[in-house]
Amino acid sequence: MAPIAALRGTRDIPPGESAAWRWLLETHRRVAEAHGYRPIETPIIEATELFERGVGTGTDVVEKEMFTFVDRGGRSVTLRPEGTAGVVRAVLSSSLDQEIRPVRVHYAGPFFRNERPQAGVQRQFTQAGIECIAERSPDLDVEVIEVGWRLFEALELRGVHLQVNSLGDPDDRTRYRAALVAYYEPLAEQLCDDCRRRLSTNPLRLLDCKRDQRFVADAPLIWDYLSGASRDYFTAVQAGLERARIRATVNARLVRGLDYYTDTAFEFWHDTLQGSQNALGGGGRYDGLAEVLEFPATPGIGYALGLERILIAARASGVAPDQEPACDVVVISVDVDAAPDATDWARKLRAAGLRVVTDATDRRLDRKLRSAAKLDPRVAVIIGEDERRAGGAVVRDMRERSQQSVVADQVVATVLHLI
Ligand code: AMP
Repeated sequence: MAPIAALRGTRDIPPGESAAWRWLLETHRRVAEAHGYRPIETPIIEATELFERGVGTGTDVVEKEMFTFVDRGGRSVTLRPEGTAGVVRAVLSSSLDQEIRPVRVHYAGPFFRNERPQAGVQRQFTQAGIECIAERSPDLDVEVIEVGWRLFEALELRGVHLQVNSLGDPDDRTRYRAALVAYYEPLAEQLCDDCRRRLSTNPLRLLDCKRDQRFVADAPLIWDYLSGASRDYFTAVQAGLERARIRATVNARLVRGLDYYTDTAFEFWHDTLQGSQNALGGGGRYDGLAEVLEFPATPGIGYALGLERILIAARASGVAPDQEPACDVVVISVDVDAAPDATDWARKLRAAGLRVVTDATDRRLDRKLRSAAKLDPRVAVIIGEDERRAGGAVVRDMRERSQQSVVADQVVATVLHLI
């Protein structure tokens, strides 16, 4: 029998990748918190209805990609495919919006979609995001986009392109949808099966279809259907971005196919990512979402970033950090008699704030030094027969390959000095 393997589309993060992950998560947390966003965590598993309503039945995510099953109590539950619906549920059900407005929160964690695994597409992936809930103002749209932008700056990731668009208000979109249907209906025979269906269920999604891209160039543009107020709002967002010196490309084809999205939609693209997987993340204003979830009408805006994709881009650009050494110090006993003293020294060094590994095995010193070198410590502390009797230790500088015999009360200070 073959050993049990990880599920397709899932992967382990081995210790060798931990520094890069910590860097991503910590930098996102720091940048979000610098803008007043506070951490929130929501369950990984939720009632299926939350996503059916909160993501929308007309979307690929809900139609084809959710991990949904019936639990032992007969309820339909789903592994979260995205973060916004859960966060909005969490914020509004605990009335956080009655305490402070807007509610600014950030999150990071695993999400699940049953997609075909390929570079930058997994079934379990990691998103970091922010949500700004319960106020509506172009300044907040700018703020949310800016947090994402400053993250990429903090990561020193170049080659990120911001794409922005306005989806207007629900009335604008009703008019636009009618124009899209009028444009696509005569082409219906030439459309793929999915798009023929979308023509009646969710015409905006025709613009996203990979198979029917050839018709997109001549399709009507949303701008021609925006009201004066929607245009003013979008102009204010663009002016705010300019003031923040954030370069944005206005992309009239950037749509999010659901009715509760309003006004600003945006994506961060990266040069190194190919084709349809070129988005590091995206977001937008969702002023209609709360009502869809049966809460009082509450505006909001947020983004979600795919950390695996950011890591791919960061590695390709050479900005992801190298793995850190597993420890600062290895304490080695030359023989088994010295092992308890080696362990004592390890404890003292840890108490001084160092990361310390001991090697009390019964191997030859040269072997121990060779395996210690694989942990890449700055210092090795060696306890032999003489040191054990005299109470001191040999302190070896692993980089310079020099060593000195040190008396007991100088060992910790000598090691600290080298590090
Ligand atoms: P979305 O919620 O679809 O806008 O996704 C936001 C970001 O999450 C995308 O731009 C990707 O970076 C990332 N993402 C979404 N789905 C996946 C997936 N199946 N595998 C890896 N990353 C994903």
